[in-house]
Formats: sequence, C-alpha cells, structure tokens
Amino acid sequence: MAKYRMTCDWHTHTTFSHGKGRVEDNVRAAATKGLETLGIADHGPGHVLYGVKRNELTAMREEIRRLDGACSGVRVLMGVEANIVNRSGKLDIEGEDFARFDFVLAGYHYGALGEEPARALGAMAANYLSGRLGRAGAKRRRENTEMVIKALYENDVFMLTHPGDKAPVDIRAVAEACERTGTLFEINAWHALDEDGLRAAAATGTRFAISSDAHTPDRVGDFEAALAAALRAGIDVARIVNIEEI
Ligand SMILES: [Zn+2]
Ligand SMILES: [Zn+2]
Repeated sequence: MAKYRMTCDWHTHTTFSHGKGRVEDNVRAAATKGLETLGIADHGPGHVLYGVKRNELTAMREEIRRLDGACSGVRVLMGVEANIVNRSGKLDIEGEDFARFDFVLAGYHYGALGEEPARALGAMAANYLSGRLGRAGAKRRRENTEMVIKALYENDVFMLTHPGDKAPVDIRAVAEACERTGTLFEINAWHALDEDGLRAAAATGTRFAISSDAHTPDRVGDFEAALAAALRAGIDVARIVNIEEI
C-alpha cells in the first residue's frame, strides 16, 4: 500500500474569523505535520457573523510575514475564503481587494448577503431546507450551479471550496468549469463530498487539492480520510496537486 504526504494545506481558519487558534498555532501545527506551505484562509469580509474584518487585514499580513519561514521553514501564505454571494457571480471581495491576498478561495456559505440581501436570504433558506429534506428541486440546483460557475469565470479563484456543500449543484458541470478556468476543485476533509459527487468530478479533467478546512490547530494538515475517499472514487492521485507519494 502506497504512503502519501500532504505538501500544502491552503485552507485553514484562525481567530481572524471563527477559527479557534491563532495564526501562530496553525503554523506550529503545520510544522509538526511536515507541511511545506500553510494557507491562512479566513472567511471573507461579507459574512455577517464571522467574516474577517477589513480593518484587521493589515495586522493579519504583518503576523503572516513575521511567521513566514520562522517555524521549521514552513511557508505561510495569506489567503481568504471569499463568499459567493449571489447570481451575479460576485464575491465579497472584488477589484483591489484581490491584491491584498496571496490567493483567493471561494465557496458558498450561509450568511453572506451581497447586494441583493432579500434574494440571497431566500436562496439560503431554500438551500438549507433542501439540505434538511435530503433533496433539492431542479430549479434550485440549476440556479446554484449557474451562480458558482459564474463566480469562477468572473473572478480569479485559486480553489473552489467544498463544492456542493450547503448549496446543491450539478457537480459535473461545476468541475468542468473548474477545469476550464484552471481552478482547483477542493476535496474538503471536513465537508466531505459523497462518492457519487467525487466520481462526477473525476469524470472531468479538473485538478484537485485536498484541504483540512481546519478551524482548530489540531486539524491542520488532515488529509487521510479525504484522500481515501478520493481514491475509492477513482481519482488518480497524480491529479491531486498537494499530495505526494512517499
Ligand atoms: Zn467554507
Ligand atoms: Zn473554510
């Protein structure tokens, strides 16, 4: 049985949004796990409950600069997990904001309202209910799929986080959009995609990355269960850019 290691974990949270650890705690955890690169990707500023505050971005950058390379040589990058806010394809960061980050992740979450709050709230309620009922209407799924694909085409997104989580989508269509736009399709170790979803993504040409989505330092670098699920679904490990055979 082959053994694998994770080289980079681009998706971890800290106290700058609603993670439990400080940047430094995540860096130490990354060093312990033998990671080469750690991404701090707190929630985008448009999230009403736990978005990163714009006036803290400078302090965050300072902190990351201080810790970059300081702990077993782990490279530390400042990212953000931007919110896909609505049908326009807009994120809650735009224009010059992009230059403040080393990379931008994007995902759909409840709680980011954008410029059409009533519509966003309606969609959230419908997505939440369809999740509870275990089924989504075709129209809801189509609208979510269009929203996510539009966000990928309209923005320079490094990785799409937890596709299909919180908003049911046509996974194959979304994975094809990842392929065409050069966006990594995330295999999230916390919000796992089911095997059918992974198989649908595998049928496209997209590249993947595994993320811990750690909200506590002890989960930084978690990848084993997500990798096992990916391999079971027939995803060739060579397509997962941050996993290496050892
Ligand atoms: Zn997320
Ligand atoms: Zn996250």
